[in-house]
Amino acid sequence: MTETEAREAICRLGRSLFARGLTFGSSGNISVRLDDGWLMTPTNVALDQLDPARLSRLDGDLRLLSGDAPTKESVLHRVMYEGRADAGAVVHLHSTYSVAVSVLEDVDPDDVLPPITAYYVMRVGRLPLVPYFPPGDSALAEAVRPLVGRHHAVLLANHGPVVAGTSLSAAAGAIEELEETAKLHLLLQGHRIRPLTAEQVAALRARYEP
Ligand SMILES: [Zn+2]
Repeated sequence: MTETEAREAICRLGRSLFARGLTFGSSGNISVRLDDGWLMTPTNVALDQLDPARLSRLDGDLRLLSGDAPTKESVLHRVMYEGRADAGAVVHLHSTYSVAVSVLEDVDPDDVLPPITAYYVMRVGRLPLVPYFPPGDSALAEAVRPLVGRHHAVLLANHGPVVAGTSLSAAAGAIEELEETAKLHLLLQGHRIRPLTAEQVAALRARYEP
């Protein structure tokens, strides 16, 4: 993907996420890795109002080369890329159902959501819960760092999900699968459920571990 194509793809995804209510206000941010740096969504702009020419163009040290100032959560993106050499894109949302799950008591902090569907296991895998720190705080990035080698998706407590993917479409597909699974999980509260068995999950992970 050329830089021009990446700029267009980020803006297209932003509009799509916003139109479907997966992000709102000026929350949520998207980044794509380039050969010599990053493209990132700017701070204080709604994802349906992105201008390809004004995206933050950062060098390999996250210094701004052109465009508007990057999201205040850029350090979160950086820690995901540093831990995952295969990451080509990162998407972070404050999507409603994922945030709701991030405040539930008595969840397994090593894997917050049950394996309800095969696609969740294939696209998200295990989802650890990162303890609460204020947005943009370097302590938040440091809490994420040790998890990133083993996980491409994490859920920030009382905040929202961060997902890396080999491509922008892979990261978007995974965070959307995560949000839908969070919704299903909440719909099923109070019901007896039959998630995938450990054997079924292991078979999927052997074939599709993201
Ligand atoms: Zn955030």
